[in-house]
This record gives sequence, C-alpha cells and structure tokens, in this order.
Amino acid sequence: MTQTLNILLIGSGGREHALAWSLAASPLVGKLYCAPGNGGIVQSADCVTLDPLDLDAVVRFCRDKNIGLVVVGPEAPLVAGLVDRLTSEGIKAFGPTAAAAALEGSKGFTKDLCARNGIPTAAYARLRDADAAKAYLRTQALPIVIKADGLAAGKGVIIAESLSEADAAIDDMFGGEFGAAGAEVVIEEFMTGEEASFFVLTDGEHILPMATAQDHKRVGDGDTGPNTGGMGAYSPASIMTDELTALAIDSIIKPTVRGMQALGIPYKGVLYAGLMLTPEGPKLVEYNARFGDPECQVLMTRLKSDLVTALLAVVDGNLDQVSLQWRDEVALTVVMAAKGYPGAYDKGTEIRGLDAAGAVEGVQVFHAGTQAKDGKILASGGRVLNVTAVGKTVTEARDRAYQAVDLIDWPEGFSRRDIGWREIERETKTD
Ligand code: AMP
Repeated sequence: MTQTLNILLIGSGGREHALAWSLAASPLVGKLYCAPGNGGIVQSADCVTLDPLDLDAVVRFCRDKNIGLVVVGPEAPLVAGLVDRLTSEGIKAFGPTAAAAALEGSKGFTKDLCARNGIPTAAYARLRDADAAKAYLRTQALPIVIKADGLAAGKGVIIAESLSEADAAIDDMFGGEFGAAGAEVVIEEFMTGEEASFFVLTDGEHILPMATAQDHKRVGDGDTGPNTGGMGAYSPASIMTDELTALAIDSIIKPTVRGMQALGIPYKGVLYAGLMLTPEGPKLVEYNARFGDPECQVLMTRLKSDLVTALLAVVDGNLDQVSLQWRDEVALTVVMAAKGYPGAYDKGTEIRGLDAAGAVEGVQVFHAGTQAKDGKILASGGRVLNVTAVGKTVTEARDRAYQAVDLIDWPEGFSRRDIGWREIERETKTD
C-alpha cells in the first residue's frame, strides 16, 4: 500500500481552491486541511480556523494533525517566515524562506540580483529619499516606471507619462501611501512589448519548467479601467514559443537560481517570472514567490501529473527525478467579481446556479471569495469565482467558460466578456 501523508494548505483564494482540487486528486494524500479555505475548498479539504501568520499556532496544528507537508499559497506568510519556522521544526513546507521570498518582497533586491548576474531587465535605480529620486528622474526619458520597493498588493507601480506625474508618485510613495513598502523606491526604464508569465519549480538547484500563461489585469473589456488582482487568464501563451521559453530559462531563470545559491539563500518553491517580450528578447519585469492567481487555476486544470510528488521533490531537493505531463488542451479562466470591484462592493449576496455551471463540458468552477453558509454559497470578497474551462483551442475554452458564466445566477456579480482576446485574435488569423 502507498504511504499517504496529511497536507495543510494555507490560503483562501481561487489559487488555493485550484491547488486543493489538484492535491485532493493525489493518491499520496491522506487528510487534506486548508486554513482558512473558502466556500468551494470545503468540497476538497477540511477547512480550519487558523491564522497563517500565527506561526506558533500553525506548528501546533501540524503536530496535532500529523501534517507531512504544508503548502503555502499566498505571499504574506512566506515573507513572515512561515516556511523557515516549519522547516526548523522538522515539518516539510513548500515555498521559499523569508530571505528567498525577497525575490518578490523587495523589487530593489531583485534588480540588484539581475545586475550582478547579467539578467536582462529594465535599467533602474534604487532611491531612498524624494529629493534624490526627483533629481534622478530628471536624467531619464519618459514614460518612466516608479515602484514601491516592498509588497503593495499589486498597487505599488506607477507608469508616469510626465515629470509632474512622476514627481507626484514619488511624493505619494515617500509620503507613506504604501506604508513601509514605499520607504524605498525603484525607478525603472519603461519597456515595450507583450507580457507573458512563466512558471517554474525549483528546489534551489534543479529547475523544472511548468507552463506559460497570460492574464488580464484591467477590470474592463478591451483592457481598460483600473488594475485588479487579475480578471482572467489562459495557458499556454502561444507567444512564448519554445525558442523564447528556452531563452528565458537560460538568460533569466538559471542565473536567478544560481545567483540565489551564491547569496546563500537558495530559492525553493515556485518561481513566477513576469516577462516582457521586447524586441531584444525576453526581459524580467518582476518575480513572484508563489503561484499566480488566477494563473494557478489554468495551470492546475492542465496538469496531468501528480502535484504532491512534484511539491515534495522541491522540498526534498530531488526535482531532477521528476517530470511533468500536461494536457494537450488549453485552459482559460474567467473571474467573476462583485459589482464595484476593485473599488467598494457588497458582501453576503447569494450565488445560485453553480451546479449547472460546473456541469458544462470541460468546466471547473473554482471559488475565490465565497463562504458556505446554511447550504448557500455567499459572496465574501471582491474576486469571487473563477470559471475555468479546457478546450482544443482558446476559442473553445472561452465559449465553454462563458456558457458556464451565463448559467450562474448572481445579479450582484460581473465578469469581463473578452478574456483571451489576444490569443483568439491570433487563432483566428492562423485559421
Ligand atoms: P510589477 O508589479 O512589477 O509586475 O508591475 C506591474 C505591471 O506594471 C507589469 O505587469 C507591467 O505591465 C507594468 N510594468 C512594470 N514594470 C515595467 C517596466 N519597466 N516597463 C513597462 N511596464 C512595466
């Protein structure tokens, strides 16, 4: 008989529902817990009340429930040192240490790493006060990109078209708009090109490429309106050809993994590279130290191999023993959000029709901000559902996803209607 292990998954979003769904399918899993989970994750895992930032409480829970692997979804517990603490207690945990999570937690750290290792990225400067920042701005071309150094929930990036806009961004950041995250800023050259995301697993030494994806950050159709956590995504991104992927591995991923090793803080976990495909080749925009949300939903839908085996190999340092198989189909996810998002929105509204939506061929509905209460599913966040579909083409996956979206009875919600438009344009051209 195969030995099973109990797993604790940390997080409560659509990313974690997709991870829970994949983990639950593994024959290696005994009991699956999720802290805190959501109204959809309860179908795959035992959701428990546990604050992931209360490290003592997490360790106690792991001892109590004989947890063999902790999988950390979001970035905040990583940066708070959850993986360091669990590892020092002898509990296996998937994700980087706090020091290694600086690849996401400090943009200045990552830019310096790129500079030391010849990794292609935008030219930059790190500035610690407003006067120096404004003086530097005056030596640079417009538009220019201004970033708070630390975690700012995706909001700490300003692309300034004019000097006055740039000065205002500097004043906001040093004025405390992003708290401690803005104590230092990075000013970057503006890069042009199409963006793509590339996900790899690494155990600190070996690299196992996963897949490519593209997402839609803006709230409105046609990529208009304010930025969000992400309104939809698809995988693979055909613009990331095999040649570009190989180039990104050699010029960006490998030197990053080696550079982290050289610093004595090997990076273990999933490395999510945001790339700009410039006329000079792929350049690094940023790293994230965890799976993307909603990109994880399309990745997990396409993954055929056992996720637990791959995550354990990352923790155990034998990722060279693992290979991953992917479905031939593409996957696409449409985010349904509460009306008003990314601004103010109502909570507690009821969502119906989820069973009918989930019954559409090739469709999986992942929950993000939901809560199960008295047999009902209620919205409890801004991004609420991720309606995910596979298909032979992006067009087919998109049609299935929207067929399911239209079966969901939730008058207080909305979604973009054009997820995948770039890829569909490309598909239609080659047809
Ligand atoms: P980041 O949080 O660093 O990924 O930045 C958020 C978004 O801002 C990226 O996805 C890009 O669309 C844009 N961006 C960031 N840095 C640059 C840059 N140097 N040039 C052009 N666009 C950028």
